[in-house]
Amino acid sequence: LLSLTSATVRFGARTVLDAVDLEVAEHEIVCVLGPSGSGKSTLLRAVAGLQPLDAGRVVLDGKDRTGVPAHRREVGLMFQDHQLFPQRDVGGNVAFGLRMRGASKERQHAGVRELLDLVGLPGAARRAVDRLSGGEQQRVALARALAPRPRLLMLDEPLGQLDRSLRERLVVELRELFDRLGTTVLAVTHDQGEAFALADRVVVMRDGRIAQSGTPLEVWQRPADEFVARFLGFEN
Ligand code: ATP
Ligand code: MG
Repeated sequence: LLSLTSATVRFGARTVLDAVDLEVAEHEIVCVLGPSGSGKSTLLRAVAGLQPLDAGRVVLDGKDRTGVPAHRREVGLMFQDHQLFPQRDVGGNVAFGLRMRGASKERQHAGVRELLDLVGLPGAARRAVDRLSGGEQQRVALARALAPRPRLLMLDEPLGQLDRSLRERLVVELRELFDRLGTTVLAVTHDQGEAFALADRVVVMRDGRIAQSGTPLEVWQRPADEFVARFLGFEN
């Protein structure tokens, strides 16, 4: 579904994405791990069309999308800092995602209810977003990103601000939801447990390059090098 070849992004003298090749198959769930500043968010933004490439190509569903504006790429992106629309209530934020695929008013109402149940915020539709906790806002952002049912959904630290028990529950529910909808997912997380529970494949980034790509078990049992091993928390 996604094919990234030699994707390169530079900021001044710094190469933040360094000729990255990445394939994501239809229905696959890929989690990107790596230290802060290794280029994870930049990778997602480049696929979404929010970050122009200095070199390389983005092919989505067989079509070359390099240089095509973000709104014409049919991908969903939930940002790390999940900007909600402050002037709309929770339901309005989630309904925005539904309207983007032309849902009727009735479908929007039903969809908002379903999505809020899913993210653990039942009955929150009329609440003001600026009165929600950080974790609650994150769940609203997740519901909004899920709403248009994009074929490729990209999530940047989708559960970052949630407490562990909620995260563990949501990861299982998300995995089931993605399987049911057939959504292809490219997700950044700093939580290994989350990556290993969610992903068919994990990609470990280092300094704008992919240090290793493999199933969670492969990466866990056979880290490609000392960097990956140390990143995963092995002493040696
Ligand atoms: P984190 O885990 O902290 O979110 P990340 O892996 O997502 O890190 P990126 O946000 O992709 O990292 O950033 C990679 C590098 O590129 C960082 O050093 C960052 O400071 C730099 N960078 C990102 N965006 C810009 C920009 N617009 N201008 C200049 N430098 C940038
Ligand atoms: Mg980031």
